[in-house]
Amino acid sequence: MSTSLLYHGFGIRGYRYAKTEYVEGGLVFHLTQDPKTCRCSACGSSKVAPRGEGERRFRGLPIGSKRVTLVLPIPRVACGDCGLVRQVAVGFAEPRRSYTKSFARYVLELSRLMTIKDVAIHLGVSWDIVKEIQKQDLQRRFGKPQLKHLRRLAIDEISVGKGHRYVTLVLDLESGAVMHVGEGKGRDALTHFWKRLRASGAKIEAVATDMSPAYIEAVMTNLPQATLVFDRFHVIKLFNDKLSDLRRDLHRQATDSLHKQVLKGTRWLLLKRPENLDPARNEQARLAEALQLNAPLATAYYLKEDLAEVWEQEDQETAQAFLLDWILQAESSGIRMLINFAKTLRLHAHGILAYYDYPISTGPLEGTNNKIKTMKRQAYGFRDQDFLKLKIYAIHESKYALVG
Ligand SMILES: [Zn+2]
Repeated sequence: MSTSLLYHGFGIRGYRYAKTEYVEGGLVFHLTQDPKTCRCSACGSSKVAPRGEGERRFRGLPIGSKRVTLVLPIPRVACGDCGLVRQVAVGFAEPRRSYTKSFARYVLELSRLMTIKDVAIHLGVSWDIVKEIQKQDLQRRFGKPQLKHLRRLAIDEISVGKGHRYVTLVLDLESGAVMHVGEGKGRDALTHFWKRLRASGAKIEAVATDMSPAYIEAVMTNLPQATLVFDRFHVIKLFNDKLSDLRRDLHRQATDSLHKQVLKGTRWLLLKRPENLDPARNEQARLAEALQLNAPLATAYYLKEDLAEVWEQEDQETAQAFLLDWILQAESSGIRMLINFAKTLRLHAHGILAYYDYPISTGPLEGTNNKIKTMKRQAYGFRDQDFLKLKIYAIHESKYALVG
């Protein structure tokens, strides 16, 4: 080892190599600092007088599988200019960190390919140190997302962890990046985002959300100029939920045992796309039988198939006529579930048809949601909420393939 190897191999400059100790599984390099290079860490003055020293140890880049520890007696100096007495700054490590900057960079490089646990084992440091290094990197890159360029957003809540824990996400539909992670769901989860968005001066054209009153109110209040687009998949899912309820009610009301038998187990057949029905399992025939026996179910089922077509029309005008026709059919069906749903669509028709002005949806958030689920499965629980949030901001980059 030499002073110049310290520089070229370990990125440590401005220190002298003193000696090497060989300890079990590792190497310990002792460094010293030339008193002439000491500066006041507060004002940068070179007019300093020595006031003792305090030894510190740092983890450095390993040599092969050997751990490397750097030991440096850090001079304490009294400054002739500002009068303070303090330790001089360490050039190769961040304040209060027990590892060098190049060690931290190496941890980040390994983190692209390995889990936190694997990196920790490989380098012989704690899980918490690897996590801390990742967290600082994420904080630096994602701590304050730039919002000024935003034009089109998707907002939705996703469930995280057990129980009913939610986070509300705002996605930039152009880049796919998460712009906000709010605790919980509903209005409060977005308060902070609106504040930052206003300050950024961004001009939002359109926002995709579901039809929940909280989002409608929030967007209308905070972005009165933006077009609100109701997400097509949420509308269809809502209908499918109602269809399942209807089938269950009909099953419960059915007195005839054959009738009951036929309705039993048809829930998935009703929700399946017709082209996905499996002839080998007799699914078409079973569905047809259930529909034939039950007029209300058949009406609802055919309206379900039609509903998806609202978003497949030539243009907005045709879509509007199509939607109105759907609503009229549902209203005249005499089936309470369909009448109620028609009412919902009437109330929200504007935001449904806005799809033809801005063909956006919250669909991309579904992809983000899946990535978060995968990430959480790999992780040893995200007890650190801030870390989880930062991970979510970084998720579209997939810079860290794994978390665990
Ligand atoms: Zn000073």
